[in-house]
Amino acid sequence: MKCPFCGEFNNKVVDSRLSKDGLAIRRRRECLGCDRRFTTYEQAEAMEVMIVKKDERREPFSREKVRAGMQRACEKRNISMNVIDAYLDELEQDLRESGQNEIPSHLIGEKVMTKLHGLDGVAYVRFASVYREFKDVNDFVSELKSLLDREEARKGEGNGRSQRTEGGGQRAEDGAS
Ligand SMILES: [Zn+2]
Repeated sequence: MKCPFCGEFNNKVVDSRLSKDGLAIRRRRECLGCDRRFTTYEQAEAMEVMIVKKDERREPFSREKVRAGMQRACEKRNISMNVIDAYLDELEQDLRESGQNEIPSHLIGEKVMTKLHGLDGVAYVRFASVYREFKDVNDFVSELKSLLDREEARKGEGNGRSQRTEGGGQRAEDGAS
């Protein structure tokens, strides 16, 4: 550690203590070149991502919580846990790479909704109805309607290259029975 006063690399630690919050070690060092003292802090690199909830409360990001929510939404749908876990890996990496240590909870909800929207319409609506806390039934109906419209638009444009639906056949229609 280079001395901030004279640039000397050699120093001795004269005091070492844990910070009040326990997240860092504070070291008092004395330069062997100029005898002046300076302080260094050591802390763990993996910074915990905190989720900021609507009422401003913070809690650590919990992969398990998101997983449970997705699992509930995907119940009895044709989505394997592998797909969900792979998505959670992706999500965690996104959060870390964002460089933010505080992320609003609605942002996580929206990310998951976008993902589920691409996977399964029913799972999406289930998840969205919990996350968006629809104020009244009209909100819910309009969400459902826009989902159905998008679904229809997708079917309409999919004639040329709808490989995704070929494998599964008409499972969406059959599922209702
Ligand atoms: Zn020095």
